[in-house]
Amino acid sequence: MTEVSIRVDLVSDTQSRPTPGMRRAMAEAAVGDEQRGNDPSTNRLCEMVADLLGKEAAVFLPSGTMCNQVAILVHCQSGEEIIADETAHIITSEGAGAAALAGAWVRPLAGCNGVFSAEQVRASIRPRNRNAPRTRLVAIEQTSNRGGGTVWPLSAIKAVAEVTREHELVLHMDGARLMNAVIASGTPAAEFAAPFDSVWLDLSKGLGCPVGGVLAGHADFIEEAWRWKHRLGGAMRQSGILAAAGIYALQHHVDRLAEDHANAKLFAERIAGIAGIELRPASIETNLVFFSVEATGLSAAEVATRLLERGVQIGVEANQVMRAVTHLDVDRSGVEEAAAALATVIADARGSGLARVNR
Ligand SMILES: *Cc1c(COP(=O)(O)O)cnc(C)c1O
Repeated sequence: MTEVSIRVDLVSDTQSRPTPGMRRAMAEAAVGDEQRGNDPSTNRLCEMVADLLGKEAAVFLPSGTMCNQVAILVHCQSGEEIIADETAHIITSEGAGAAALAGAWVRPLAGCNGVFSAEQVRASIRPRNRNAPRTRLVAIEQTSNRGGGTVWPLSAIKAVAEVTREHELVLHMDGARLMNAVIASGTPAAEFAAPFDSVWLDLSKGLGCPVGGVLAGHADFIEEAWRWKHRLGGAMRQSGILAAAGIYALQHHVDRLAEDHANAKLFAERIAGIAGIELRPASIETNLVFFSVEATGLSAAEVATRLLERGVQIGVEANQVMRAVTHLDVDRSGVEEAAAALATVIADARGSGLARVNR
């Protein structure tokens, strides 16, 4: 592949680079030995996240994936069953970690844009007999990534929580983009987190940090999570360098997520008018824009390659589905440029007869 210079990168909100202010905070961070519990910056970050989420304690982990896996390892025994939406990151993107590490498997539910109902959960809880897997945990994703950045409404969370309480199941939130849900809905993070036994947020997505996630819950849950963090090799040393980025992000990068949401909506509005492009879902709630290029006659990979030639990078999700993600390294003019490039790519393909849109 030839070198291209990418001017607008909409592949993921993980693509943002640490800002000068964040780099300064990292350089000046007070540090100690995290494994021994005396890294002041990491301890402070964990206290901040525990407070933000209304939980007793929190633990800093190298990634969101490790937050999910450590939570599953603490909550689940071998042979137990997890309930999650069929699009969930723990199903699609964690190397079957639940099965490989905890010996648990995941029962997928067909939700609506990543959001399933309390009735679906109730209907999928196994009978307590010797044959059936033991239903143990229900996991929700806030926001739902492959659901299109959909915010789980508080009412839907409460309804699911009622069922998990009734059946003594554990409730876990993959809050990779929880702060996007908070900004989009106006619901405080602690209110979203209240019914959950465990909840984490990702620092390296919209919050713009280079590394990390923070997992929160009851003190005894976090104590067990620490055992797994250590066992998996996730216990660090002068992690304050990384934690300082997280502290900075919580102070400076939360409210600005509204800009990412506005830019995503603007991008969606612009591309919705392009012949052959269809938004999926049609309404944009946060910073993720999924769209189908099927009716253009081009594959998503072909569109991606042609966009790249124009300095615009957009992700390929499936044969004919693409995902554009806004973040702090993309501004309004960037999404306008990306939308214009997409319009040109489709129009050029149509003009050269490669695309079938006018057939
Ligand atoms: C990115 C993501 C993760 C994993 O986070 P990493 O920090 O990349 O390991 C988990 N869940 C969801 C919904 C995500 O989008």
